[in-house]
Amino acid sequence: MPEQHAVLSASSSHRWLECPPCVRLEEKFPPKTSEYAAEGTLAHELGEITLKHNLKEMATRTYNSRLKKIQDNELFTADMPDYVETYVDTCMEKFSEAKAKTKDAIFKIEQKLNFSKWVPEGFGTGDFVTIADGTMEICDLKYGKGVPVSAKGNPQMRLYALGAIAEFSFLYDIKKVKMTIIQPRLDSISTDEILVNDLLEWAEKVLKPTAELAFKGEGEFKAGEHCGFCRAKAVCKARADKNMELAKYEFQEPTTLDNDDIAYILGKAEELAKWAKDVQDYALDQALKGEEFTGFKVVEGRSNRKFTDENMVAKTLYDNGYTDNVIFKPAQLLGISAMEKAIGKKKLNQLLKGFIEKPQGKPVLVPETDKREVFNSAKADFQ
Ligand code: SF4
Repeated sequence: MPEQHAVLSASSSHRWLECPPCVRLEEKFPPKTSEYAAEGTLAHELGEITLKHNLKEMATRTYNSRLKKIQDNELFTADMPDYVETYVDTCMEKFSEAKAKTKDAIFKIEQKLNFSKWVPEGFGTGDFVTIADGTMEICDLKYGKGVPVSAKGNPQMRLYALGAIAEFSFLYDIKKVKMTIIQPRLDSISTDEILVNDLLEWAEKVLKPTAELAFKGEGEFKAGEHCGFCRAKAVCKARADKNMELAKYEFQEPTTLDNDDIAYILGKAEELAKWAKDVQDYALDQALKGEEFTGFKVVEGRSNRKFTDENMVAKTLYDNGYTDNVIFKPAQLLGISAMEKAIGKKKLNQLLKGFIEKPQGKPVLVPETDKREVFNSAKADFQ
């Protein structure tokens, strides 16, 4: 859930733990809201009311009226309940396991978690927490379908765990924490576990000193993959220096690149392209606000002609003797993703599974560290 009010939020902790001064630098740039974030908030709301209803914390009447509001939201899609169900089922399973161990196991839904003991003014919202004798489980729903996020060593989950320990350890003797990230649209459920003693040691030795630096805007700038969602990414000097360093290369051959030269460029190209795109987007945004960049100007991009009144267009053509098959596109079946949104994941599998195939993908050149298997060109030739 959004944690806009915490300076050091759990969701950005992977970034400020790597680059502590980013937090104060980012304050100079307004946060951007996106449709994806609003969609994620809606999915969380659906998860929250479903869990509360299933676990008898919400009356059916209230549940129905809140469900109706969610369904009326323009961002609601038919596949959302199927995806949210994966999250709800995982939480229900965790709670059943907890109750099997301890009769008076508890659960908390959308629990505010305060981890300010280690992170100045730090708090966040844990989607689902359940506590039984000795073990606490924390579940986090991530509705996006960008990249799978691993729970292994994930600082956001660890901060939630610390907040939950601070809140509940006087009631329960918690020895171990299990943290699970559910990304239903990527078919990904990732779990990590840590002994509370080890977690507290990490919190004292790594988290607390770094968070204090970050809160004061001190420490070393460090560019890396974590820059992706940083609000300062387009104008950050440290990121620019790192990328300019990447671009420097002493080519050996006087006239043409050899394979080693090309491999070097391939290894840097993606990061350089991302950075260049961030700078371009930022500069356009600023230029539209009146800033000037020597040698550049804003012009009108390409645009396509469009009809101003489609009903009148159709009428005029009918009046002039044209027929439907000439002036209208033939009806076209939705693609698989759009169909899934329209009828839901369950119905798609139930009704259409037999008609779906996944052909071999086109070859792409990726770094050796990529987890995918090497492209089987013999299979492709045969096909
Ligand atoms: S862009 Fe990267 S290096 Fe620069 S402040 Fe943000 S996180 Fe730090």
